[in-house]
Amino acid sequence: MALPLPMVPQRDTCIWPLTPDGFYSTKSGYQFLQREEESSAGMASTVPSLPSTAWKRLWKAPALPRCRETGWRACLGALPFCEVLHARGMDLDPICPRCQAASETVHHALLFCPMVKATWFASSLGLRLQQEQVFRDFFLQFLQVADDEALGSFLEILYAVWCSRNDLVFNDTAATVDQAGHGGFGFITRNSRGEVLAAACSYYGPVLSPTTAEALSMRWSMTMAADLGFRKVVLETDCSLLVDAWKRNGGCSYLDSIVRDCNVFLSIFDVFALLFVRRTGNCAADCLASLSLSQGDCVWIEEVPPQLIGIVQTDVSASATHISS
Ligand SMILES: [Zn+2]
Repeated sequence: MALPLPMVPQRDTCIWPLTPDGFYSTKSGYQFLQREEESSAGMASTVPSLPSTAWKRLWKAPALPRCRETGWRACLGALPFCEVLHARGMDLDPICPRCQAASETVHHALLFCPMVKATWFASSLGLRLQQEQVFRDFFLQFLQVADDEALGSFLEILYAVWCSRNDLVFNDTAATVDQAGHGGFGFITRNSRGEVLAAACSYYGPVLSPTTAEALSMRWSMTMAADLGFRKVVLETDCSLLVDAWKRNGGCSYLDSIVRDCNVFLSIFDVFALLFVRRTGNCAADCLASLSLSQGDCVWIEEVPPQLIGIVQTDVSASATHISS
């Protein structure tokens, strides 16, 4: 029922449903087989619904409705973590933005990420989480030993963990280079609801190449984010070469030398991740970068220049669609 129907009649054709363009790729085939294997090993991200007794205890637990709902959605694997969105075909890095060491699955993000494990251990429940398992299995085991009061506390802490993950700030960064070889940067910062917190552009001058300009833009964006007081940052770029250089973190090109600069700023942030987004998802930052060539250095707090209002509104409705899907 949710399949979008084309307005112009088209011939039926076979498609591969696991890539955005419908064409098979070896990578998507490998990922599919890997998920199937995890599924048979009981580590699937999509899980059956809860037994009715567990479901009743969950909904009667002494916790706010939003906390109970978060627990329920976690059991169903229905919270939009990176791995879940990646598995649905969204072009983003599935790595956990907190620790950068594992895929951001539901059970990793809410229970087993090292930083989250420390939270559970320090909580009133004193949970010591060791054996990694899917969230639903963990929850069913927890129900067997927890009274209603402990269950209520568990759901409230779970909700706090989920909210703290969403406190991350999303920065889009972009660079542009004009015909004379002069570069300019743009960046826009949003919270997890897509609301704009700040926007900025900066004229840089002559640059070596467009990729170098992107790396310089990343370095500038990190300093801007730090100056504005953001400490949990997901930086998004449409430059895949920059993301590759960030991941390898050891090359010797001029690009790598700027990336190493960026590494130095890491200690400023509690959480930092660099994600690749398609160019269509980076329009606002691109527009700001172009603006820098005529306007020089500008900063906007909780607003954007008039040229960006339409783009930002489109982005917010797109992100609202992702969240509700
Ligand atoms: Zn993690």
